[in-house]
Amino acid sequence: MSKLPLRARLATGIGGAAGRVSRLTGRGDGSVIGGVLGLRVEPDLLRLLAADRQVILVTGTNGKTTTTRLITAGLGALGQQVASNAFGANMAAGLASALGRAPQATYAVLETDERYLPVVIEATSPRVVTLLNLSRDQMDRAAEIWLIARRWRDALADAPDTLVIANADDPLIVCAASSAKRVTWVAAGQRWHEDSWCCPECGSHLRRAGADWRCPECSFGRPRTPWALDGEAVIDPHGQRRELDLALPGRANRSNAVVALAVADVFGVTADQALPLLRQVTSVAGRYTVVPRGGCMVRLLLAKNPAGWLEAFDVLTPGDGPVLLAVNAQIPDGKDTSWLWDVDYRVLRNRPVYVSGERRLDLAVRLEADEVEFELTAGLDDVVDRIQTGDLDVIANYTAFQQIRTLVGRTE
Ligand SMILES: [Zn+2]
Repeated sequence: MSKLPLRARLATGIGGAAGRVSRLTGRGDGSVIGGVLGLRVEPDLLRLLAADRQVILVTGTNGKTTTTRLITAGLGALGQQVASNAFGANMAAGLASALGRAPQATYAVLETDERYLPVVIEATSPRVVTLLNLSRDQMDRAAEIWLIARRWRDALADAPDTLVIANADDPLIVCAASSAKRVTWVAAGQRWHEDSWCCPECGSHLRRAGADWRCPECSFGRPRTPWALDGEAVIDPHGQRRELDLALPGRANRSNAVVALAVADVFGVTADQALPLLRQVTSVAGRYTVVPRGGCMVRLLLAKNPAGWLEAFDVLTPGDGPVLLAVNAQIPDGKDTSWLWDVDYRVLRNRPVYVSGERRLDLAVRLEADEVEFELTAGLDDVVDRIQTGDLDVIANYTAFQQIRTLVGRTE
């Protein structure tokens, strides 16, 4: 994709959004301010569009899009319009257009890119910031996550009116939230420990015992958690337990739902009110969607990084059904595929495994090392031709997922 059309699209989209706000606030016909702001892009436009709204920011390496969707669903109980960047355009321009499209919305639930969180906090003065987890996204970004945690901590120290809702099971998240004036901790779980063996405060090796963790050398440790995911259920601050019973599969989504319930509670929406709304969410930006293809029912799972692949393995259709793994290495995926070596594939040994994508040979080498049998394929339709009928789970990384979604037709 060339840079010019993208820039042009940004300027037009944002200019249009600002223009509508300008008209609504009586500051002229909108075209001038729209054009000016469209060129300046951020963060002034964001500040203007966020003013006088109750803003909720959602960030973390994994689960942002789903959690944003679940919070938006839960706040539906308020009966008011909720602005949201539902399809994951999560940098300043995407947030600005989401707000611009919903000028009347009192509430705004905004998925925010990890790197942009400080500037977005500064621009939107959020009522709530939700911190889910931090792990390496691709190999070429591994060193960044400690730096990101420090930047979040600095930004939250400067936002005393913001309530932070944070995952107490991720030590880097606890470190990042530690500067906030008010934090509601959620025991949301952490499947991926590889990026949090060390104390973020002093560098010592963390001790773990069950869900608990603490640093043996300094006072850093897991805080008390009013909200918790417990198996298939949520436990609220009063100790009441409710079955989640979501349509979305897997532990990671149950964890996202508990976070969403904690956020909804801040706005007076009880778990009893929010849960039925969360249960109605069946797919998020094409993920978990089941589509017919040939004689097969194909289920699409997105996994962008090692932690995401573990979560995807968790939600495979139980049993020994076939799975297609699709891996690309375009810029949004990370050019370097060495992260494939961070994932343990042995759980796939009892299934027919098909491999596709532009970097299928990289994945093939990795699967051989884990003694997982597989077949190389030309893509989804090739696999459908081979298996003819039944369920097929597809796990794909970012651009591979988008290619498959385009192939099967966007259903959402
Ligand atoms: Zn320590």
